[in-house]
Amino acid sequence: MLETTIKKVLVTEEEICVKSQELGQLLTMEYADKNPLMVAILKGSIPFFAELTKRMGTHIEMDFMVVSSYHGGTQSSGEVKMIKDLDTAVEGRNVIIVEDIIDTGRTLLYLKELLLHRKAKSVKIVTLVDKPEGRVVEIDADYVGFTLPNEFLVGFGLDYDEHYRNLPYIGVLKEEVYQTNV
Ligand code: 5GP
Ligand code: MG
Ligand code: MG
Repeated sequence: MLETTIKKVLVTEEEICVKSQELGQLLTMEYADKNPLMVAILKGSIPFFAELTKRMGTHIEMDFMVVSSYHGGTQSSGEVKMIKDLDTAVEGRNVIIVEDIIDTGRTLLYLKELLLHRKAKSVKIVTLVDKPEGRVVEIDADYVGFTLPNEFLVGFGLDYDEHYRNLPYIGVLKEEVYQTNV
């Protein structure tokens, strides 16, 4: 069973639900009549993206990007690679990037600069989790769900070697999981 490999739960399903409602309402007010383009960074942001966008009571559009900075495991490689680009032109658009987590900040710095270079009118970042202790470049999210300590987290989109994304909460794995392969 998936649950038996979890050492502790840091953010419950209920807490994520309440926070998404709060952020959804805030974005609804701030983006009323702006028709924002909401960009999910695949795959990790999918559960949060679904949770957040269904709570926005204003017109939005959706698009998806795949970038990679991790190559499996728990360490960042430091290099950001574009794997799937947007289908939508962003020139003149108000863009909201939706991320699962900011750690070093490299992924979001790369994405924000790319979208501004393409002449987006505005680029804001909403992230489910912020781990400020991990930062190596200067960037911050405009909207943060939960600020958490520098641990390797799984669940609600966050994976360990592609597993655990489907957990309905955010937690930390037992050490033994990293010794044997799942
Ligand atoms: P950054 O570029 O800010 O270092 O990291 C961005 C990406 O690294 C995230 O979108 C996520 O895919 C991955 N990442 C960073 N920290 C964690 C973590 O604690 N757990 C998991 N599963 N992925 C992480
Ligand atoms: Mg991500
Ligand atoms: Mg990952």
